[in-house]
Amino acid sequence: MGARSRSASGSKDTDRRIGRRALIIGGTAAAAGTAVLARDALGRLWWRVPGVDKPREAGAVDYGGARWVAASDANWRRADRPDDYGVDMVVIHVTQGSFDSAVKVFQDPAHGAASHYVVRKDGHITQMIRELDVAYHAGNRDYNERSVGIEHEGFVDRPQDFTDAMYAASARLTAEICARYGIPVDRKHIIGHVEVPGTDHTDPGPHWDWDRYMELVRRARTAGTAETAGAAESAS
Ligand SMILES: [Zn+2]
Repeated sequence: MGARSRSASGSKDTDRRIGRRALIIGGTAAAAGTAVLARDALGRLWWRVPGVDKPREAGAVDYGGARWVAASDANWRRADRPDDYGVDMVVIHVTQGSFDSAVKVFQDPAHGAASHYVVRKDGHITQMIRELDVAYHAGNRDYNERSVGIEHEGFVDRPQDFTDAMYAASARLTAEICARYGIPVDRKHIIGHVEVPGTDHTDPGPHWDWDRYMELVRRARTAGTAETAGAAESAS
């Protein structure tokens, strides 16, 4: 989510119209009209192929430190990551509202967007969409398919909203995500929503302390290396 520099139009994600799988089958990303429809049909067929779904358990979280609250299934798309789409990015957001309001709108099917995680000012983390699935958080189909989205409670113009507890908790989460998918801990792979191509959002804004955050992620990544290496192995 986050502040928009333009109008509220375009809040609906284009994810549900054309899947990346369909584009891969088509062999090109540049197409329109009937070609798109044909690939869309192929994409839907692909999802009927049995065996692509990993077992799912109600209420299960991907991050041990998170509590589960399900987002509306209108705000994400079922997938089988990282087997269908590789995950190589974490996208950092700021909610432009309270934690409770973010969790509430992500449960609203009319909202059209939601992130995998929401981090509260006190460091509490709620997971709302499985990392297996594609969350509509970046406003860019390709980036949604390859990333995990993390929202942070607060406003982009209120630096005091970004608390020590929030930075620390979020950094541990991002470090674990990076460890599990082998994502490099750098600013090419851990980006702000504002850096997503084509976005009209400005979050996390100029007061998000990237130097501090990246240092915390690096530290957490190093501290967790032994533990997460085992988890990554068993997950692959
Ligand atoms: Zn955002």
